[in-house]
Amino acid sequence: MAMLEFQDVEVFYGKVQALRGISLNVEEGEIVALLGNNGAGKTTTLSTASALVRLHSGSVRFAGKDISKAHPWNVVDAGLIHVPEGRRIFSTLSVLENLQLGGYLVKDRATVAKRIERVYELLPLLAQRRTQQGGTLSGGEQQMLAIGRGLVAGPKMLMLDEPSMGLAPLIVAQVMRVISEIRDQGTAVLLVEQNARAALKVTDRAYVIDNGATTIEGRAADLLTDSRIVDAYLGNG
Ligand code: ATP
Repeated sequence: MAMLEFQDVEVFYGKVQALRGISLNVEEGEIVALLGNNGAGKTTTLSTASALVRLHSGSVRFAGKDISKAHPWNVVDAGLIHVPEGRRIFSTLSVLENLQLGGYLVKDRATVAKRIERVYELLPLLAQRRTQQGGTLSGGEQQMLAIGRGLVAGPKMLMLDEPSMGLAPLIVAQVMRVISEIRDQGTAVLLVEQNARAALKVTDRAYVIDNGATTIEGRAADLLTDSRIVDAYLGNG
């Protein structure tokens, strides 16, 4: 079943058209990457799914429901969780308090506590630092915390915006490993990445967004050797 489905989505910021025709789908149990250059429209695509920006035309469906006109809290409630670019953790709150905030829409506190325990199992480094202030974590740890906070919301699907940004290659590999474990535990993932090579190693499929429109789509293994991708997004690394 398709978890997330975009059909011919167009979005404007005032007179500026940011999305000119995004069509994509993410199936249950899949990790899908969105690749593309700066300003191509990747973040806007995630913000559209989260109902943070309005559609001009087209449609977005999540878990079988049209969410094109939903409110952001309805989208979170339905289980589509957005981990934004730049981590945005609360630097003066502890690791535990940051995780608890991920469950702010969850009424049952016992459920939140159980999910936090599961996050600690997946990310033991957070368990060791549960009383440490968020702002004193390393960049990679802060990224893990942002992902962990997203998991406490109880996602059916996670959308991650540039989780590798500013991280050393070894840490990027750790983040990617965590993302594939999240998928293995049954949560679909839509991953926005500038680091196409790191993304394609863990994803099942990918789309390229160019100038606000989805252009190339394919299986990650095929795209790693596709000359259009190699030349434009993989460089020599
Ligand atoms: P990056 O990797 O640099 O974040 P991106 O692929 O995520 O790029 P978007 O941030 O979605 O791209 O931006 C798509 C287009 O929309 C760009 O031309 C950008 O300048 C424009 N844009 C984004 N946010 C706004 C905004 N709030 N107001 C006006 N224009 C915006």
